[in-house]
Amino acid sequence: MAAVAACSEAVRSSSEPTPEELVVDAMTTVRLDEITRIYRTGSIAVEALRGISLEISSGEFVAIMGASGSGKSTLMNMIGCLDRPTSGSYYLEGEDVSQFNAEQLANVRNVMLGFVFQAFHLLPRTSARENVELPLLYREEDLSWKEIQKRALDALSIVGLQDRADHAPNELSGGQKQRVAIARALVTQPRLLLADEPTGNLDSRTTLEIVDIFQQLNQQGLTILMVTHEPEIARFAHRVITLRDGLIRSDKTIEPQSAAEALDNWTDEEEVSI
Ligand code: ADP
Ligand code: MG
Repeated sequence: MAAVAACSEAVRSSSEPTPEELVVDAMTTVRLDEITRIYRTGSIAVEALRGISLEISSGEFVAIMGASGSGKSTLMNMIGCLDRPTSGSYYLEGEDVSQFNAEQLANVRNVMLGFVFQAFHLLPRTSARENVELPLLYREEDLSWKEIQKRALDALSIVGLQDRADHAPNELSGGQKQRVAIARALVTQPRLLLADEPTGNLDSRTTLEIVDIFQQLNQQGLTILMVTHEPEIARFAHRVITLRDGLIRSDKTIEPQSAAEALDNWTDEEEVSI
């Protein structure tokens, strides 16, 4: 991608990729080679990732599962360029971002990635529209105030919240807050959406509504990685990667369930079963 290529110019080695490598890279959004991450606190070292190799292609919807402490968030932070590996390589659209400095990583995050977290992380006392506008204010491109507002409203309408644009987070339900957070992640038109336990604070029906939005976005071509510890949520993805003790235990392609269908067939009794 041009923006990643531009910010990696300074660290690009003299060996340019061959045409074959470029073809592979065009389809491979994420490639991890033997990634490890060791957290050191005083004399204690925790091996959170112990050698993860993984490829994710453009257009996939992947669920990352595993028990608490298995390394899901650490892996997500790595893929999201919020953290750097202790060893191993990370290629994002063919660029070795494990060699990037903090500023280059920030640029990659801003240009390429969208984030959704369990706790929403919206600014309080700030309208939904203003929350969604925020990532655009940190961009280098010079957007007019009008264009910023338009893009924010467009992103809010993708998640069905255009009529709540002027509401502050405390005037919104949990599901609506998470929709605002999704709109904020989408407003920069990311190539990869990373969601860490996005439905962890939501009830069953609202969870399905959020997963339905992810499925629609994925059908439109967005690559999505979603961490969840619930198998009932993972079954809506096309591929399920399970971690155990910092290693990949299994990596399976599945026939995904449709969240829209599950919503159509929703009865209140299901509240207990999901
Ligand atoms: P998960 O998201 O699957 O619950 P994490 O990636 O958060 O797992 O954590 C993996 C392991 O790394 C755990 O043993 C956790 O205690 C440890 N860990 C995570 N973050 C830190 C940190 N900042 N400092 C030290 N240890 C950490
Ligand atoms: Mg976690």
